[in-house]
Amino acid sequence: MKIVVNNEQEKELVYRFLRAVNELDLLEDFEKVDEEYATEKSPQFLSSAEYTLLRDNLHILYTEIEVDETIKQMEFDDNNIVQGTCVDCGVHTEGFADGRTISYKEYLEIMNDTENNRCEDCYQRKIQLDDAI
Ligand SMILES: [Zn+2]
Repeated sequence: MKIVVNNEQEKELVYRFLRAVNELDLLEDFEKVDEEYATEKSPQFLSSAEYTLLRDNLHILYTEIEVDETIKQMEFDDNNIVQGTCVDCGVHTEGFADGRTISYKEYLEIMNDTENNRCEDCYQRKIQLDDAI
């Protein structure tokens, strides 16, 4: 099986996800939920045999994770996922004023760059100061 992602960060994420699926036997839990919510009108999504097939094959040992930059990046719908503390005034920050989506790669870069995190007011002040120089 091959899974294709946009970048190395996504590759690492999918790798860790597959490890969790395997080591925590998440497909067993998934199957239980599928059984529990199945009704006559809305039967199980997968049969017991299909869950067994996936459990035996959706494994990190048999899955190649390939990077291809032409594939769409994984994105968060809501940039409020980015949280931190403003380096200038110490206020808690959440998301961006522009409301754009944010990729997983960008999220990791921002969360690792705590020295440049600013609230909107301090960000605007810094832009004005930088322009004045
Ligand atoms: Zn601030």
